[in-house]
Amino acid sequence: MSERSSTAPVRSTLGPPEVEGVKALFQRERERILAYCTQCARCFQVCPMAQGDPALAAADPQRAVRGVIEILRGQDGTPEGLAWVQRCARSGVCEANCPEPISPKMMLRVAAIVALGQLGDPPRYAARQDPDLFNKVHAFARLTLTPEEIERWTVAPAAREPRES
Ligand code: SF4
Repeated sequence: MSERSSTAPVRSTLGPPEVEGVKALFQRERERILAYCTQCARCFQVCPMAQGDPALAAADPQRAVRGVIEILRGQDGTPEGLAWVQRCARSGVCEANCPEPISPKMMLRVAAIVALGQLGDPPRYAARQDPDLFNKVHAFARLTLTPEEIERWTVAPAAREPRES
């Protein structure tokens, strides 16, 4: 029988090397999203938070998604993209509407991390810096990520199944 048990305590605080590991996962996911997203905007069109905001509901969907992609590219992002990133409540309604191997919820999550300046980019909007952010992200991820999301986060792109053409 294995020494490890499912009831073994899990350390909740990340050390500096582990924080760097989580940042590396975000960077890897950032690059993967940039490689796959076609900016079709289906995720935005079904987002209840976007549709519940009069300014975002009236926004051009492609412009909103382009703004998020620009943030991920290290650019400023459109006002619509920044507003959508800040408004995301992780409903996950977008997930089933993406035709690509992307989690739009994760796309917005990574864009928020980038926009906060947590991956070394200039911050896109003023927010209180949280030195414990990656511990919170790590704990949140353990509670909320699906097995598919964990696979997306932790499997190197080169090791993934090739896309169908
Ligand atoms: S994340 Fe998916 S649904 Fe959203 S714009 Fe990109 S490809 Fe389209």
